[in-house]
This record gives sequence, C-alpha cells and structure tokens, in this order.
Amino acid sequence: MEDPQNSRPTLRERLMSLVQAKYAHRSPPAYPAPKRAEARTEASSRATTETEPPVLSDPGYDHPTVPGLGPDAYADEVLRMVDRPFCFSEKYGEQQGRADRLGAQPEILDFERALIKRAFKLGIPLFAHCVNRGSAEQNRLYRLRRSKARAGESPHNFGAAVDIVHGIKAWALTRRQWQIIGHLGKEIATQRGLAVVWGGDWEFYDPAHWELANWREIRARYSEDLGFDGR
Ligand SMILES: [Zn+2]
Repeated sequence: MEDPQNSRPTLRERLMSLVQAKYAHRSPPAYPAPKRAEARTEASSRATTETEPPVLSDPGYDHPTVPGLGPDAYADEVLRMVDRPFCFSEKYGEQQGRADRLGAQPEILDFERALIKRAFKLGIPLFAHCVNRGSAEQNRLYRLRRSKARAGESPHNFGAAVDIVHGIKAWALTRRQWQIIGHLGKEIATQRGLAVVWGGDWEFYDPAHWELANWREIRARYSEDLGFDGR
C-alpha cells in the first residue's frame, strides 16, 4: 500500500517546480573543472605547469591577517589544508558536481564558486557538500541534532545556503583552519558585495555553513508564491 503522505508533492518538489519555472531562462552555472585530470595522477603531480596553483612562499602572495594568527601560523595552517594533486584529481571534479543546486539562489552559487576557486588557487580542495536540502532530510538532521532547523526553517530549504567542506578532511578541520576558510569567505563576500553570514561565528558552531543574510526575505517570497507556511 502506498503511504498517502508520499503521494503528495513534497515541499522540495513544490519549491523546485516553482524555481525551475522562474529560472528556466538561465543557463546553469559553470563549476571549476578538474584541469588536466587525466595527466595528473599522483606519480606525475610534480610536473610544473601553468595550471599549478601558486606556492605560499611566492613573494607575490600576501598573507592575510586573521585575528590571533600571525603570518607564520597562517601559512602553516594553510599548508596543512593544501593538497595540489587532489585539486587536479577526478574525485575533486566529481565533488564539485555533487550538491543539488537546481534553482538555488544565484548569489549563494556565485559565493560558492568564488570561494572554491580561491581555495583552489592556494591548492586547498574544497567542495559544496550541500546547497538545496529537502524537508525530509532537514527533519532527519533536526532529529539527529545536527541542525537547529526543522523543514522550512533552514535557508538550505530555499537554496539560500551552502555547506562548504574540505575535499579530503571534510568537516575535520581544526578551529584555526576553519578560521582561515572563514576569513577567505568573508573577504570574497566583501569583494563581491554579497551579504553572506558564516556559521563559524555562531554559538551553534557550523563553520562549513554560509547563508545569504536576507534568506528570510527569500522565504517570505516563496511563501507568497506558494502559500507555503514553512512546513
Ligand atoms: Zn548549512
């Protein structure tokens, strides 16, 4: 017997059909492709090419200031996140396409792409683990206490947030390393005029998480269009 709950369109399906109609004219965003993946096996990773990310000892590289982290500590922590061969691997390429971005907010996609590209230039592999999140998954994370939000209460339910993690270490970065990622992200947001909030600044520490500051306004627009009250 079919569960009547499952035969109704889910929140996610309703949202996605709306946003698909709304953004049908837009072409999908491009993501950084793994350049020369076939030539970049681990054995051949020492070859220097123009696609090689810059090294940190490059005098042209300006060490940014992160509170509580001097330039040497900064460089050390960055180097612990660097894995250039991985940045050119097939797996890195696969990770870039993993998250569901269908109909997500263009500003969060722009932010995601810029942060991942910036990290790539440093040799740090990052990827978006999650952009859109459906209501069932949201409620599952809430029950597991991995999220404070139920369905309709998270910006991920409106394509207005992204969780960006390390390609190899995933969430297992140190506080200092997350601080650096946070710094890079804020710098990018400022440069691009994007009002983005970082979960690493919250008491409910969630340093992979970035969301549009105005996501509640976006939710209100969905609510008007869909008669959707957040559940
Ligand atoms: Zn998140």
